[in-house]
Amino acid sequence: MKNISVIGAGTMGNGIAHVFAQNGYQVNLIDVSQEALEKAVKTISRNLDRMVAKEKITELQKENTLNNLTTISEIKNGVKNAELVIEAATENLDIKLSIFKEIDLHSPNECILSTNTSSISITKIAANTSRPDKVIGMHFMNPVPIMKLIEVIKGYSTSNHTLETIMMLSKKIGKSPVEVNDFPGFVANKILIPMINEAIITLHEGVAGVEEIDTVMKLGMAHPMGPLQLADFIGLDVCLAILKVLQQGFGTDKYAPCPLLVNMVTAGKLGVKSGEGFYTWKHNTKELFVSKFFK
Ligand code: NAD
Repeated sequence: MKNISVIGAGTMGNGIAHVFAQNGYQVNLIDVSQEALEKAVKTISRNLDRMVAKEKITELQKENTLNNLTTISEIKNGVKNAELVIEAATENLDIKLSIFKEIDLHSPNECILSTNTSSISITKIAANTSRPDKVIGMHFMNPVPIMKLIEVIKGYSTSNHTLETIMMLSKKIGKSPVEVNDFPGFVANKILIPMINEAIITLHEGVAGVEEIDTVMKLGMAHPMGPLQLADFIGLDVCLAILKVLQQGFGTDKYAPCPLLVNMVTAGKLGVKSGEGFYTWKHNTKELFVSKFFK
């Protein structure tokens, strides 16, 4: 494989494009928003500068990486030579289905179509294409250039050949792929998001405060950050949406979102992106240790 197309140049898309371009692949980075494309190239360039400063790569490797990258605003032009497409656009079923319809129409027949979705069924996306055997999940972790894991999700119709190709490719770009089956939340979010929900329930029931819950999980379980701080980073709206997918997909109230989480999302307290969640935030840094909301 030489030609990779990445659809969506947001948080995840720019990281995925960065990693493939740095590993010598020709990458078309596609987004409907010109602003998102420009911001993505700036982010990649800044991240590469940091790697040069830390002597992880040379100035020449940085230049080669940027030269391997082309930004394009139309899917039709961006996927016509692709051997693999990785879709990392907004987490919305209708948007994803319409993107896959277009990729399916304009990419070569042999091209593998993958999605970085956190919660949408791979089987459902695949069933809306003419090549369900060539559709697979590649769930990268944020920040992509740093995190080693890729959950490789086999849909109901994904062929073994597609799976093996993606497992091999993931290793080639220095990642550690793990094969999982296509069920709601896959593995990562099926375990992580209920843990975050339980931390919110613990706060809601008054068992302990925000700092205390996060400190127990950091110092006691050696987690790099507490579950409530992590929820602020992920976005409380995203946590709530994934809980609803788990609750509906498995048909059990085991995954019912804590009423406090529902209230916070309704009130617009979404975490880092809105400036306030369990903590208050300014420029991605904790401003007050705990949100005034909890005093
Ligand atoms: P984001 O909002 O940062 O970026 C999404 C990008 O998609 C935007 O730039 C938007 O302009 C673009 N887009 C929307 N519709 C499009 C279309 N029709 N064609 C082309 N581009 C389009 O989102 P993100 O956080 O990068 O998430 C992207 C995907 O990755 C989602 O499916 C999400 O669930 C998944 N994911 C996110 C994370 C995370 O931590 N952010 C982690 C793992 C997986």
